[in-house]
Amino acid sequence: MKFDAYKELVPILDGMRAKGELEYTKDAPLALVSSFRIGGPADFAVWPYTRAALLDVVIALRRLGIRRDVFGNGSNVLFADEGYRGVAIFTTKMNRTVLRDGILWADAGASFTGLAVRALQEGLTGLEFAYGIPGSVGGAIYMNAGAYDGEIAQVCRETTVYDPAQALLGGISEIGGDAQGFGYRTSAFQFMEGAVILGGKFKLKPGDPAEIKAKMDDLMARRRGKQPLEYPSAGSTFKRAPGYFTAKLIHEAGLKGAAVGGAQVSEKHAGFVINRGDATAKDVLTLIEQIKDRIWQHFGVAIECEVRIIPER
Ligand SMILES: Cc1cc2nc3c(=O)[nH]c(=O)nc-3n(C[C@H](O)[C@H](O)[C@H](O)COP(=O)(O)OP(=O)(O)OC[C@H]3O[C@@H](n4cnc5c(N)ncnc54)[C@H](O)[C@@H]3O)c2cc1C
Repeated sequence: MKFDAYKELVPILDGMRAKGELEYTKDAPLALVSSFRIGGPADFAVWPYTRAALLDVVIALRRLGIRRDVFGNGSNVLFADEGYRGVAIFTTKMNRTVLRDGILWADAGASFTGLAVRALQEGLTGLEFAYGIPGSVGGAIYMNAGAYDGEIAQVCRETTVYDPAQALLGGISEIGGDAQGFGYRTSAFQFMEGAVILGGKFKLKPGDPAEIKAKMDDLMARRRGKQPLEYPSAGSTFKRAPGYFTAKLIHEAGLKGAAVGGAQVSEKHAGFVINRGDATAKDVLTLIEQIKDRIWQHFGVAIECEVRIIPER
């Protein structure tokens, strides 16, 4: 069904590429753009360079009726072995950050860790927790990413978002404060179908650069000490169940080291499912189901995946 639509899409993408507005690949192996190093090919993968180019692509795809999803750094996703029938858009080449009137502005594709470094350089405190989270600003807002008592919700004053449901009114709005709907690893943007986060504004406080740096170094050392960073993964596989540390439950259920094919519960941190090198998405999903079942049987606790399964099931 996509054949004719793709025939119309290619000249649009070629034209934008010729104008230096984006780059794109056909039959793009998603394993190369996911921190899990798993996933078959997307029909197309597109990297727009600017917000305007991102919007032009999204609007063209809508007109052509082609499925698309927007991703940042691919550090919280599990792409299917069959890949993705549609256009996977990645924001990581759209990555400006600007400090204006005490507010740090960031494009959705800016590195979240890079934003923490920029804040340090500007002598601003509040983003130390972000140092070491391997995602983009857009992905961090979408997920309300957080670590060590910090989270996006504490610092993101406003999000710029394109909402296709509002397309007749232009579609772009600034959503601020509580309307961003931040909660534990969730945000309002997860419930706005097809929403595209274009960027965020961060309100930080002046701080002592030496103290900011010491905190960042400490958090990075803790991360390196506890997390299996030597293996591909998508970070914590599961959300915390209310009142429980999921990694502890997995450990106590005797699942450390449990494996299906190339997917394994990390020996270093039971909260991480790692790719030992040749894991498929099917291996990871089977292991996830086994873990969920075991935790339910042992503790009567239902645990939920934090990693986003793409395409959504
Ligand atoms: C080693 C490791 C450590 C990690 N540690 C942490 C941690 O300490 N804390 C934590 O919270 N997370 C952690 N993560 C998970 C991950 O880094 C975060 O969830 C991060 O915020 C995801 O950002 P991303 O750009 O990679 O998003 P992606 O994985 O690309 O996307 C995640 C979801 O966000 C959506 N999305 C992304 N960008 C946009 C956009 N512009 N508009 C609309 N939707 C968008 C995608 O469609 C997808 O559903 C870790 C991951 C790894 C691999």
